[in-house]
Amino acid sequence: MIFRQLFEPESSTYTYLLGDTESGHAVLIDPVVETAERNLAVINELGLELAYTLETHIHADHLTGALKLKHLAGSRIAGPAKDRLPCTDVGLEEGKPFIVGSLTLHPLYTPGHTSTHHSYLLEQGDTRRVFTGDALLIDGCGRTDFQSGDAEALYRSIHDKLFTLPDDTLVYPGHDYQHKHVSTIGQEKEGNARLGGGKTLEEFVAVMNALDLAYPAKIDYAVPGNEQCGECPPNVPLEMRKLCDVTRQG
Ligand code: FE
Repeated sequence: MIFRQLFEPESSTYTYLLGDTESGHAVLIDPVVETAERNLAVINELGLELAYTLETHIHADHLTGALKLKHLAGSRIAGPAKDRLPCTDVGLEEGKPFIVGSLTLHPLYTPGHTSTHHSYLLEQGDTRRVFTGDALLIDGCGRTDFQSGDAEALYRSIHDKLFTLPDDTLVYPGHDYQHKHVSTIGQEKEGNARLGGGKTLEEFVAVMNALDLAYPAKIDYAVPGNEQCGECPPNVPLEMRKLCDVTRQG
C-alpha cells in the first residue's frame, strides 16, 4: 500500500492518500477543493488512478474537492450513508467494509462533531491506522458547538469506538493546527488534554462548553456547498468561485 499525508494550509486540513499497488486505485480521504490539482498530480506521479474520494463528514471550514476531482479524474464520491446526499455515489455505514482492491476500510460511526460523522479504520498487516476526521484530533477534538454538534455524543464516540481500539493504532486526524502529524490511541487515551487521563463525561462537557470559539469563517457557504459534494453554492465569494465551479475546469 502507498500512503501519503497531504496538507492544505488555509484550513490546516489533512487529506490522506491511500494507494492500492495491486489494482492501481487510489482513495483520497477528505480532499479540499484548493488542493484538488496538487493531489491529482501526486496520484499521477505515483502511477495511480483516483478511484474514490471519501468524506468523514460535512465540513464547515472548507469546501470538499470531491466534485471537482470527479470532474477532473472520474473518481466516485463516497461518504457516510447517513448524510443522504444525492451527489454521493457510495454511502458508507458501520458494519459494512468499504473495499478498494486490497484495501479494506471499516467505517466507524463517531457522531458528536456532527451527527453523521464517521471515522475509518484501515488494517494493513500489523499496521492499524484510524482516520478520525474531526472526532479525535491530536491532543484535542473537533468542536461541538455548531452544525449538529453534541459534546456528550462525541465523548461516547471517542470512548466507545476509538479508545477501544488497540493502543498502538495510529491516529491520523482531519486537522492539526500545530504541525503534529500522527498519534496513537494509547497516547491520546493517556494524554489528550480534553478527554485523556480518564476525564469524565461531565469534565469533558464543561471543557467543551467553555471553549467560546469564533464563528467559522466559511460555514455559511461551506456547509451548503459540501451538501452538494463541493458544488459552488450561490453565496460563495468570487475568489472561491473559480476553484469550485467545475463547469469552468477544462
Ligand atoms: Fe469539521
